[in-house]
Amino acid sequence: MEISFWGTRGSLPASIGFKDIKSKLKSALQLAVDEGLSKETDMDEFIENHLPFWVRGTYGTNTPCVEISDGKSSLIFDAGTGIRDLGLNKVNDRSISAPYDFHIFISHPHWDHIQGFPFFIPIYMKGTRINIYGCHDNLERVFNIQQNAPFFPVKFSDLPSEITFNKLSPGQYHEINGFRVLPKEQRHPGSSYGYRIEKDGKIVVYSTDSEHKGEEDITDFVEFFRDADLLIFDAQYTLAEAFTVKEDWGHSNNVIGVELAQRSGVKHLCLFHMEPTTDDKNIERFLYDTRRLANLLGEGDKLDVSIAYDGMNIKI
Ligand SMILES: [Zn+2]
Ligand SMILES: [Zn+2]
Repeated sequence: MEISFWGTRGSLPASIGFKDIKSKLKSALQLAVDEGLSKETDMDEFIENHLPFWVRGTYGTNTPCVEISDGKSSLIFDAGTGIRDLGLNKVNDRSISAPYDFHIFISHPHWDHIQGFPFFIPIYMKGTRINIYGCHDNLERVFNIQQNAPFFPVKFSDLPSEITFNKLSPGQYHEINGFRVLPKEQRHPGSSYGYRIEKDGKIVVYSTDSEHKGEEDITDFVEFFRDADLLIFDAQYTLAEAFTVKEDWGHSNNVIGVELAQRSGVKHLCLFHMEPTTDDKNIERFLYDTRRLANLLGEGDKLDVSIAYDGMNIKI
């Protein structure tokens, strides 16, 4: 399976400003001076191997949208602003031809998980079939409301594509587009649902907007995450934030992410839904701290740890 991250930030899109770009340029130039980079030196090699990711890239920018593909068919998780880029990519991909058929799972109807939908180009193409899945009763109403005047110029009911809403039952496996999908309710204001996706012996768990508070829900989630090849995990906060000012805001931290992943036998923990006010340099520090913690706590099998960014691809 291949997992493509189209949107990875939480709560709000987090683009970088001119001050961030200046700071990246300054760090890149400093490293170039330190390394004695000359005209003859291979620039690409320097950028790739000598600049940290926070300097040469960004942990941005869109709100959640993740695609899971087996090479032939795919499922989409959430319709944050990342779905705009996904839609443009599909329409411009000559190897895929219309009419399109999309399967979109919604974790919950908070705005950062649905706000990209009105900008998803295929919804304006007649013949496109869009199947929306979720466990909330109000999804159809919510999708309609966000396109009502005066919020948006095109009414949901005027869209030419064929859109259907399918309610899923948490705790039960569903066979959808060739994948097995198990939804699970998570602690979050208004509830959110995580999804365990299985295909050809591989397992991915998409678990965003989920707060874990100590021991109380650990057994349930250890089962839900059990032996996943990839766990996409809400780590919006640091441990200190999660247990002080941001307690009960519905998000988790990197420390409980490592603990749950190691207890569940997860192979790769991908931290997701990063705080929009945290800059790239501090996100990268968060990644190194999390890797150190995983090494300290880990016994036996090594846990890979990454932080999602738009454009990242993982093959399992
Ligand atoms: Zn969110
Ligand atoms: Zn939310």
